[in-house]
Amino acid sequence: MENDQKLSNPKKTIEIIQKYNFNFQKKFGQNFLIDSHVLNKIIAGAQVTKEDMVLEIGPGIGTMTQYLAEAARQVVAVEIDRNLIPVLKETLGDYDNVTVINEDILKLDLAGLADAYNGGKPIKVVANLPYYITTPIIMGLFESHVPVDNVTVMVQKEVAKRMEARPGSKDYGALSVAVQYYAQPYIVANVPCNCFMPRPNVDSAVIRLTCHEKPPVDTPDEHLMFRIVRAAFNQRRKTLVNAINNSPELSMDKVQVQEALAAMGLSATVRGEALSLDQFAKLSELLAG
Ligand code: SAM
Repeated sequence: MENDQKLSNPKKTIEIIQKYNFNFQKKFGQNFLIDSHVLNKIIAGAQVTKEDMVLEIGPGIGTMTQYLAEAARQVVAVEIDRNLIPVLKETLGDYDNVTVINEDILKLDLAGLADAYNGGKPIKVVANLPYYITTPIIMGLFESHVPVDNVTVMVQKEVAKRMEARPGSKDYGALSVAVQYYAQPYIVANVPCNCFMPRPNVDSAVIRLTCHEKPPVDTPDEHLMFRIVRAAFNQRRKTLVNAINNSPELSMDKVQVQEALAAMGLSATVRGEALSLDQFAKLSELLAG
């Protein structure tokens, strides 16, 4: 399809919206992209090739799907809003490598999807995400162990910064540790609000999360490590000893935590925000007993 015929041309987006008398639904986080430069950056950033099966979450009227269909072997696009299904039938009519599924992404068996459309081989996930469910979508993908190469997504700029933050910075938190346990983050582009219709109230960024083949740290008990991480950042102004001691999810006493920190060469007054992923793993190993 010629570029000026694509939906990234704002005139084409307006034409389709008017033709179908489409009403944007705030509750579904509907902000459609209308900038071809941003779309090209997303496709390049996601490293999509003709070998790939891409899962697109929330195709909207199909703006990014048109770009993905031209770059990938196969695209499976999952859209919750049934009013968009007839629209997608028209806007993606030229492509025979796109399947649209009318479902809530949080309810779909994604491992089954990777099996059915990619023989169980790792897929790529690309999305301009609905911001109200960014974290459940990304953590759901990681925790369900769907085979994934990389996840390249548009998110709120603040969220992208938190995902890639390192220990000691103000953006570093439980999300940084969780994302970095599963993947290597890289911010591909910052995207101002005028690249969308309608304009969101926040600035956005595209982040690529390249999944680790195996976690970069060893921990005997992943769940315990994440309980400690949550405790540390739920009360981030408190010392780690107090934060762990106050956590309803954990039952260690202060002396036990102080001894573990001492064994790691850390001060008894250290805060969780100073610990790296590696140190959280080590601490969970020591506290696992
Ligand atoms: N990909 C399009 C684009 O870039 O122009 C639209 C992106 S818009 C930010 C988010 C899309 O996700 C909307 O089309 C919305 O209806 C859809 N969506 C919202 N919640 C969803 C869910 N739980 N499952 C699947 N799609 C969802």
